Amino acid sequence: MSVYHDEIEIEDFDYDEETETYYYPCPCGDRFQITKEELAFGEETATCPSCSLIVKVIYDPEDFVNYEEEETVKPCKEKKLAIN
Ligand SMILES: [Zn+2]
Repeated sequence: MSVYHDEIEIEDFDYDEETETYYYPCPCGDRFQITKEELAFGEETATCPSCSLIVKVIYDPEDFVNYEEEETVKPCKEKKLAIN
C-alpha cells in the first residue's frame, strides 16, 4: 500500500555511529532515517519525522544478519536435533 517517494541505496545514506541510524536528506529539509536495528529486522522503509514522505532502502539483508541477537535465531535446528 505504501507509495515510496524514492528508492535509495543504503550506501547513499549517512551513518551516525552514536545513534546507529542511517540518514538521508528529505526534500522538506529534515532527514529520512532508519536504524541499523530496523534493517536487521528486515525493515526497508525510512521515514521522515517532519513530513509524510517515505523512501525504500535498497540494501542486502545479509549485511545486517550478524547484528541480530541470538534470541532471534530460528529454533528449527533444535527441533531437528531433538527428533534424532
Ligand atoms: Zn520530510
